[in-house]
Amino acid sequence: MDIKTRFAPSPTGSIHIGNIRTALYSWLFARKQGGKFLLRIEDSDLQRSVNDAVELIISGMNWLGLNWDEGPYFQTNRFHRYNSVINYMIQHGMAYKCYCSSERLALLRSNQIKNGEKPKYDGYCRYKSVITHSATCVSSSYVVRFCNPQEGIVTFHDQIRGTITFDNKELDDLIIRRADGSPTYNFCVVIDDMDMRITHVIRGEEHINNTPRQINILKALDAPIPIYAHVSMILDDDRKKLSKRCGTLGLMQYRNDGFLPEAILNYLVRLGWSYGNKEIFSIEQMKKYFDISRISKSPSVFNYEKLLWLNHYYINHLSIDYVASHLSWHMHQQRINIKNGPKLTDIVKLFAKRSRTLKEIANNCHYFYMDFDIFEKKVSKDYLKPIAITPLKCLRKKFSNIVDWTPETIKLVIIETLNELNISIDKIGMSLRVALTGTDCSPTLSITIYAIGQSRVLERIDQAIRYISMLY
Ligand code: GLU
Repeated sequence: MDIKTRFAPSPTGSIHIGNIRTALYSWLFARKQGGKFLLRIEDSDLQRSVNDAVELIISGMNWLGLNWDEGPYFQTNRFHRYNSVINYMIQHGMAYKCYCSSERLALLRSNQIKNGEKPKYDGYCRYKSVITHSATCVSSSYVVRFCNPQEGIVTFHDQIRGTITFDNKELDDLIIRRADGSPTYNFCVVIDDMDMRITHVIRGEEHINNTPRQINILKALDAPIPIYAHVSMILDDDRKKLSKRCGTLGLMQYRNDGFLPEAILNYLVRLGWSYGNKEIFSIEQMKKYFDISRISKSPSVFNYEKLLWLNHYYINHLSIDYVASHLSWHMHQQRINIKNGPKLTDIVKLFAKRSRTLKEIANNCHYFYMDFDIFEKKVSKDYLKPIAITPLKCLRKKFSNIVDWTPETIKLVIIETLNELNISIDKIGMSLRVALTGTDCSPTLSITIYAIGQSRVLERIDQAIRYISMLY
């Protein structure tokens, strides 16, 4: 069998973590089996489609490296095809026009509820011609309904949940074309899965109830039935449906927040799937080990701390050049001109151990690229005091004489200064740090000083001395 899976998001807003997990599972399954993976944008419901959403889906998939072999297909480009199948089905008695007015349907529904029955269409137009309707019950326009089998069961073997069975009596004759002529969601999915020769449908559990309807239509059309796998939902750490706080954030928000694609993918693959106790999976390992039968039936709980932990791991374990290339995006977002300072690979080396996100790194390294006004820094008051003037002047002099500007020489010069003045590093370390970075927290001083660069260091010490002299 030529395996083919698909990711079929509806472009109704930002693409969130639950969608991406099903995309990842479908992608991994296809990649592992040497099959194909396609992208289909389910925009048939024009009223719910949001313009930017398609752009976000495509850029999100590209950012994660979830490449597709076919598509993106757009359902709105296929209306002609859906309508020709609907016409064929009408001609062949698989579907029929329904003229029931909304008044009739409302009355039917309220009577069924009154009698304790499950509300569903009673198949009136399937058997009676429109002439038999009373005047108030007939509408001028019609919808098209599928002739759902009225007897028997529809059953499928879900790869995650086992066998699931529905009674056909529970399902009514689904509307497949609206009165305005547009095909409905479940119908488009069926025709797409059939035309695109999808063999495995991996999607969220909220679609379980659609599956028997879709299978019945496929059967009527004599089309092969794909294998289904419905993935459970993701809960937040209070075991409630995911809230804005974590998982329903759009995928690109995670990028903005400084996550690497590898961390997101590794986090998502483990969220609801396991391979022994293994936590870290490279993309190659995911492809090698992924197996639908190991996807958990129970809901998964989103854990933001674990995602941060993985991100820290990848910041420290992927190649420095690669991490720097992602950091570059964040620097651009923060309008930091990276030409004005050290190479980004040096910044990664300096900050990787102490940072859990790339945004954190970008936030904390401004002083390497941009000058600042020491008067505006809150920490200046705490650490820039008259007692620091002599050591700062002494350091400035020695720094200006360094010919070979390296972290080692800088370190020696600092030690020499401390010895000459007979003070400990506690007396001057923080003042120097604040003078040079405008913050009380930076990587190792000698390396930071080295990376800031000699002329900038001298200017900033001058600025700090001016500050102290003006204030005291
Ligand atoms: N468009 C549906 C969604 O975004 C997915 C449908 C499917 O995978 O069959 O939830």
